[in-house]
Amino acid sequence: MYHVPHYINGKKVTTSGRSLKIFNPATGTVIGSLTVATPDIVAAAVHAAQTAFSAWSQIAPLKRSRILFQFKNLLEQHILELAEAVVREHGKTKKDAESSVQRGIDVVEFVCGAPAHLQGAFTAEVTNGMDSYSMRQPLGVCVGITPFNFPAMVPLWMFPMAIACGNTFILKPSEKDPSCALLLAELAQAAGVPDGVINVLQGDKETVDSLITSSDVQAISMVGSTKTAEAIYQIGTAQGKRVQAFGGAKNHAVVMPDADLDQAADALVGAAYGSAGERCMAISVVVAVGDHVADELIKKMRPLITKLNIGPGDTPETDIGPLVTEAHWERVNSYVNLGVQEGADLVLDGRRGPIEKGFYFGACLFDNVRPSMRIYQEEIFGPVLCIVRVPDFAQALHLVNTHEYANGTAIFTREGGIAHQFTANVQVGMVGVNVPIPVPAAFHGFGGWKRSMFGDIGMHGAEGIRFYTRLKTVMQRWPQTPTGIELAMPTI
Ligand code: NAD
Repeated sequence: MYHVPHYINGKKVTTSGRSLKIFNPATGTVIGSLTVATPDIVAAAVHAAQTAFSAWSQIAPLKRSRILFQFKNLLEQHILELAEAVVREHGKTKKDAESSVQRGIDVVEFVCGAPAHLQGAFTAEVTNGMDSYSMRQPLGVCVGITPFNFPAMVPLWMFPMAIACGNTFILKPSEKDPSCALLLAELAQAAGVPDGVINVLQGDKETVDSLITSSDVQAISMVGSTKTAEAIYQIGTAQGKRVQAFGGAKNHAVVMPDADLDQAADALVGAAYGSAGERCMAISVVVAVGDHVADELIKKMRPLITKLNIGPGDTPETDIGPLVTEAHWERVNSYVNLGVQEGADLVLDGRRGPIEKGFYFGACLFDNVRPSMRIYQEEIFGPVLCIVRVPDFAQALHLVNTHEYANGTAIFTREGGIAHQFTANVQVGMVGVNVPIPVPAAFHGFGGWKRSMFGDIGMHGAEGIRFYTRLKTVMQRWPQTPTGIELAMPTI
């Protein structure tokens, strides 16, 4: 049994009060605990971050980047330790956990070049004797609230970018798998990040409520379910804070009759059942264009799905680890029951239960799912794939575009013209062409549309720099002779 403390002003802080249990989902047993940060602890973290901001924001960007470069090196040296914490508390397979940490490190690598990204624009002689230039300045204390499903990657998408831009940061990781956040803060400190620049608060809604209403917090990055994302966006923006809040998803893969169906079947099985479906970019709906496509896909996917090994994430043969908690297992199970009640065909039922040890849930496949069904409309966030049959491309596109979620989508086709029509007209933030999980690379922006994202500025890439800075534009002149009084609007 271990306890995961807070991390404030460069020190681990253990507090008393309401305690939450940490489970190992592979065994179903309690392995640790944390104590929920109360308003006074939140205030201490905000004070530490606010105090550190003045010095940190004035350090030359290149010097900050050198520290982040050292942080990147340390992350690479500790990738296995981080992945083990992900496996232990989240349940992902080891390989998947390592890959997710690497996707986080990619963003740290990108922010090592922050000085170039922070460059402003300069126009000499914008008019006679006058120059104009712009600069991007940090905001102050920024907050990150992260979900359970990527306990290392999502924090790494947030705080390295924020601090590279000169901000200080308070991370509130998911209470279900809090250890990675602490490890990341300790590695940042070892890399030379000064005390108070990165702080970690353990807790749940109580902690978040204090953090997002603190007057010294300037910006909030949040990733989680749509209900929470929308609430945090509304509370934060009502208080004048900059907020980006990323919510849930129902990602459709459209499969055209001309697609390479073997390739599509492989891609869909990986994208639907990898990480037990607990990915915001998982494919959860296949839109089969034509009955032939649906029938062939089922024929090809069935042996692939039934071969998947369910087991503990640290066992090399495991393809699908457990779900994160017993409550989540119950939720996913209730959706499978609902799908059967709603009249969808449960072609493959991989459920196991009652589970004696561990929150394992095998792959399930529904066919003949209709858009009116709740298993189509709502995010299940488990290894459950729904097939919807449509007669043509126009109806496939219409289906994707009328769903309330719009995080990711993909099309499988060999025809460039169809792929072009899809990418141009689909109302979704991240799009794959024969790529099932189109998570953008670190130097591009990440973000969904509609009810998958609240806010205007995406995560990482140039979007991240924009989110964590604000623009200031200067007009300057150095008059040699008196200019006289000008009362009219100045013109150029
Ligand atoms: P969640 O909304 O339950 O929790 C996310 C974070 O918010 C946690 O830190 C949690 O402590 C906090 N929180 C929970 N309820 C709160 C409340 N009422 N008020 C204030 N804070 C609260 O989400 P989760 O279950 O941890 O993560 C899974 C969800 O995250 C899924 O819906 C998934 O699609 C989504 N997700 C989205 C993206 C994306 O980029 N769009 C990425 C990853 C995960």
